Amino acid sequence: MNFPSELVHAAGALPVLIQEDSEQITLGRTLLHEYYCGYTRSVVDQAVTNKFEVFDALFAVDHCVALLGAVDAIWFQLQDKPEEQDKKKVFLAQYPASMDEPTTFEEVSVKNNKVKEQLETLCGVTLTAKALSRSIQLYNENRQLLREVYALRKAGRIKISPRQMQTLVKSSMVMHIEEHTEMLKKLVPLLEEAQSGSPDLVKLHLSGHMCHAPRPEIMELIEDCGAVIVDDDLFTGFRYISTDVPEAGDPFDALTDWYANRNVNVPCCTRAQKSVEWADYLVNSVKESGAHGVVTLMAKFCEPHMLYFPELRKGLERHKVPHLRLETEHEGIPYESIRTRVESFVEMIRRGF
Ligand code: SF4
Repeated sequence: MNFPSELVHAAGALPVLIQEDSEQITLGRTLLHEYYCGYTRSVVDQAVTNKFEVFDALFAVDHCVALLGAVDAIWFQLQDKPEEQDKKKVFLAQYPASMDEPTTFEEVSVKNNKVKEQLETLCGVTLTAKALSRSIQLYNENRQLLREVYALRKAGRIKISPRQMQTLVKSSMVMHIEEHTEMLKKLVPLLEEAQSGSPDLVKLHLSGHMCHAPRPEIMELIEDCGAVIVDDDLFTGFRYISTDVPEAGDPFDALTDWYANRNVNVPCCTRAQKSVEWADYLVNSVKESGAHGVVTLMAKFCEPHMLYFPELRKGLERHKVPHLRLETEHEGIPYESIRTRVESFVEMIRRGF
């Protein structure tokens, strides 16, 4: 979730953020508890069903119990296959989750440096400040273009479905960034020419889903119920592109700043920071976009999200922001029951309850 892709790019490799697979979980079932989130179970399943063979290495740079369990499961699996061990390396850089400590900046710097050294060994290069600055500029440019699309959607000046919006962000996570940026430069003017959506739809902000993308079917179902999604703080959404890396000064320190600022710009439930409230962020976003309510998509067994949620709900209630929480799973999603709940929520907003 907080992977510094710029470091991989500067080392001359292609960073690819692993997505949740839409396939049923099979072999991975025996390696990770059923009560781990769908994302981690899917990642382990992809690893053991050899879908990661295309990659030279796997880096895990985040902090949550389920993700640590997933990395362990992949490690154990590779130990059982010594021939794989040589080909594929699994690295873990557990970044700090407590953002207010006096040591946080230093700890993040140390982790970034460790990732840099591992990449240098892996790629057989020396990762220079000049190369990193160049990569930072390229990623910033890409994020800025994606934020432009977000601003146009928020202002109601383009018609873009949630599936299309998700595709734009997801593709930036896996494609060569230069190629993606060139495509975005051509796309943005075309989007501006398109018609905006119908004004009588209920406007909603979509919140949540850490680490992976919600199923497009759920987002489409929400819009089918007479709503339009005008903004989001999804990981495969605005959260991912919210923060640029400073371009002045030392580029390695700049990556550390980026890590610290992401949680301020779009607060994340996997981080602890006393001065930052996710609910305040949501209330301000809703004011800005004119959204009539918030729909939270919570991946089942996402512990950080479950623990944070009561605070979030209290904050939204305090500000009288209509709110609906929907729990999602990797498989067996009860679409019709979700439809009924969303229809009721949209109707409730229309009637002004
Ligand atoms: S933060 Fe939530 S979704 Fe992400 S790996 Fe942890 S439990 Fe899963």
